Amino acid sequence: MDHDVIVVGTRAAGAATAMLLARAGLRVLAVDRARFPSDTLSTHQVQVPGIARLGRWGVLDRIAAVTPAVPRVRLDVGAAVLDGRYPAVDGVDALYGPRRTLLDATLVDGARAAGAEVREGFAVDELTRDAEGRVTGIQGRNRGEGRGRGPSTVPITATARLVIGADGKRSTIAEAVGAGAYHVRPPATFACYTYWSGVDLPVGSIYVRPGLTVPAFPTNDGLVMVAVFAPLAEFDRFRADPAAGYLAALDRCGDLGERVRSGVRAEPYRLAPDVPNLFRAAHGPGWALVGDAGIVMDPVAGQGISNAFRDAESLAAAVARGMDAGGRLDEALAGYQRERDAAAWPVFAMTRDLAGLRISTGQRLLLGAIADDPVETSQFLGVLAGAVRYDEYLRAGNVLGRIGGGAVRRLRRVGSPAGVGAAFGCRAKAGPEARDVSAASG
Ligand SMILES: Cc1cc2nc3c(=O)[nH]c(=O)nc-3n(C[C@H](O)[C@H](O)[C@H](O)COP(=O)(O)OP(=O)(O)OC[C@H]3O[C@@H](n4cnc5c(N)ncnc54)[C@H](O)[C@@H]3O)c2cc1C
Repeated sequence: MDHDVIVVGTRAAGAATAMLLARAGLRVLAVDRARFPSDTLSTHQVQVPGIARLGRWGVLDRIAAVTPAVPRVRLDVGAAVLDGRYPAVDGVDALYGPRRTLLDATLVDGARAAGAEVREGFAVDELTRDAEGRVTGIQGRNRGEGRGRGPSTVPITATARLVIGADGKRSTIAEAVGAGAYHVRPPATFACYTYWSGVDLPVGSIYVRPGLTVPAFPTNDGLVMVAVFAPLAEFDRFRADPAAGYLAALDRCGDLGERVRSGVRAEPYRLAPDVPNLFRAAHGPGWALVGDAGIVMDPVAGQGISNAFRDAESLAAAVARGMDAGGRLDEALAGYQRERDAAAWPVFAMTRDLAGLRISTGQRLLLGAIADDPVETSQFLGVLAGAVRYDEYLRAGNVLGRIGGGAVRRLRRVGSPAGVGAAFGCRAKAGPEARDVSAASG
């Protein structure tokens, strides 16, 4: 074998995984058809737990030097406004929104510095297998660098004990191995976002209105990123005139439309209607998946990058363990899938509820009851950041304690703890154990 591990895709998930594997002493080849630095269709709030991981990995300083920290966020749901600070995770108490040009390139450089071989402009076409069907490597092509120069026609192969697909939600690797999908939910939203200069935005802001969620966060180069998430059913009408639809949405969010119009739009509107929600099997003979290739969720909650970092860390540890002398790789990978699914489920459940783009009566009561309490506000913002588990936060007893007697009486008809959970949008029973495995693959 040429390598211990080949990682396909070198953005949030792949570059982080390659870096951590190389640091563990493994021989790593990481390839991506893109070149870096380059952008991708994604906004880029990295939640506090993701930033804490960047800090732990020693790559945060380069990002933090040029990206505004966002320790404070204002959540405006119309009937209530929460304005507070994120709880700290490993001493980190701020979100950052680095452009993907910066974030992904920083991780690619980190992977190289750790000893991984990174090949940019290399597109994987297919996998190679041994006689038993175990994946043994990749076959792909170098892509031309100049305009009009397509992929080279000469196929190149490389072999490894493990091929990791970190190649995003439409993963070639997942499709090639037929990775089974589960927890499949229909797409619910689309996003439209762009960047503004000359807009004063001292804190991160999230507006929620019926059928609408609008995050606005500062990013690099003095720009502010403002995104609109709306129901997918409205996409055809919206795309006929994105500027009109986008500004009309901002006009429903306090003075945000006015503030944005006082600035200058710095980049084109970007439209993102392809937002699947599903888990895929995380491993099989000679392969594993990480990042969006393995679990993809609606971007409305801004969790994908932090999820990718969490799973990169868990997968790299499992692979290092499994490739140790006497280690059992397949068993270690099975442990990775269990750990991944258990950690991702509450985030997936929260995201699914946020993708409904509505605030229920129970949620309104809760937010109204905690808005004046900085500790409770911080806890709730911790839930949105993925730092506090959604299912635990919404456990019926906790919720009732928070909203107080008057609200409890209004909810009395709900009765059972499960009913209370439902009133808050929490489907406590539908955990990973209740797998609704679909026949779909890839
Ligand atoms: C509109 C939108 C807004 C979002 N906003 C946020 C946010 O604010 N915060 C957040 O945390 N997440 C956000 N996300 C989610 C986030 O973008 C993803 O979760 C994240 O990019 C996943 O990282 P990844 O490395 O798994 O995949 P990707 O970032 O998709 O990277 C996959 C890489 O694989 C490469 N690749 C694919 N196929 C091949 C091949 N055959 N050969 C070689 N290379 C290949 C691609 O070139 C690419 O570089 C958003 C997503 C969208 C769509």
